[in-house]
Amino acid sequence: MKILIINAGSSSLKYQFMESEGGEVFAKGLCERIGIDGRLTHKVPGREDVKKDIPMPTHSEAIQAVLDIMVDPALGVIASTDEIAAVGHRVLHGGMAFTESCIIDDACIAAIEKCIPLGPLHNPANLMGIRACQAIMPNTPQVAVFDTAFHMTMPPKAYIYAIPYEYYEKDDVRRYGFHGTSHRYVSARAIDMLGNPEHSKVICCHLGNGSSLSAVVDGKCADTTMGLGPLAGFPMGTRSGDMDATILEYLMGRYGYDIKEMLNILNKKSGVLGISGVSSDFRDLDDAAAKGNERAALALEKFIYEVKKFIGAYASAMGGVDAIVFTAGIGENSIDLRRRICEGLEYMGIQMDAEKNNVRGQEVDVSAEGSKVKIFVIPTNEELMIAMDTAALCKK
Ligand code: AMP
Repeated sequence: MKILIINAGSSSLKYQFMESEGGEVFAKGLCERIGIDGRLTHKVPGREDVKKDIPMPTHSEAIQAVLDIMVDPALGVIASTDEIAAVGHRVLHGGMAFTESCIIDDACIAAIEKCIPLGPLHNPANLMGIRACQAIMPNTPQVAVFDTAFHMTMPPKAYIYAIPYEYYEKDDVRRYGFHGTSHRYVSARAIDMLGNPEHSKVICCHLGNGSSLSAVVDGKCADTTMGLGPLAGFPMGTRSGDMDATILEYLMGRYGYDIKEMLNILNKKSGVLGISGVSSDFRDLDDAAAKGNERAALALEKFIYEVKKFIGAYASAMGGVDAIVFTAGIGENSIDLRRRICEGLEYMGIQMDAEKNNVRGQEVDVSAEGSKVKIFVIPTNEELMIAMDTAALCKK
């Protein structure tokens, strides 16, 4: 089935038009500056990228611009929008309501709306994308795929926070976790690569601009590093990761920040950017560290140290580990970071083959011969998961 995948942000909208079986991508692109002016970048494999300034006061004009270019005789890939069998939307927060993807109807929209307090930055934008598609393509089925859904199999001991229980009961405060579609895809690939054993314990390291780890037992998520929101876990590009709440009170008192300003610092100015003062991009940090920048080196060391700690914690929590997976921008591309994360973990049976690890963006087993634990690099493919879920639900 030919599926259009939409990932709507507050002022941007990513799209990909692809085949759900086999994953062939026909076109993809990005609408930027929605609500400001509007710019479209459209990419078709084998052709030159197209960039156009198109007024996009709202997400509706952005979706219309995407459909227009898709059917454009010169730049497009389809003769009519009827060729779009269904639309799959990436939705950030499904709260406790969604354990899997669902066909979008009024009840589904109402449930996504109810999750807005849990995902205040993303869910309203996701809903704008959904509503715009519904208005422009009223007869095309739409499916919502949630970043949180894969993690809903976590047991209570993993998802409960040690605060008064009533906040869980009355206010839905618990660990949810994110990047679920990526963790689902790479853990399933890893289980396949392990030879589909009946029992498997996999640690997925999704290391990108935002980063999270998950512990996956027999294909089901048992724990993950992100929490109620995506700020939790270990340091990321600009996010702090887990934080001692005392620091918030201390800094808010000293500098007079309100909670919004404080959270903006923790979300946008922290992580490896905060420590290094150089960049949130690991390539810049590598360059700076190589030139002797000590804070860039410290930021990298901190990131590696915290990932290592979670690998140890998850191996311990699962009572062992069969495979470690590296995915997303850093996990797929940083040869050095993968090496440094696995270094010193030989006592756990984790042995990397330096030669095999010399790869970028390929699905490959990089563990040394005889390594008790397999180490896989698996390029993530959240879009394929969304397309497959969308097609499966539509066929039902
Ligand atoms: P993502 O959020 O998955 O798109 O990952 C983006 C991040 O991947 C960038 O911010 C970079 O830090 C990182 N990245 C991409 N390529 C490389 C590379 N060759 N070496 C190190 N980091 C990389």
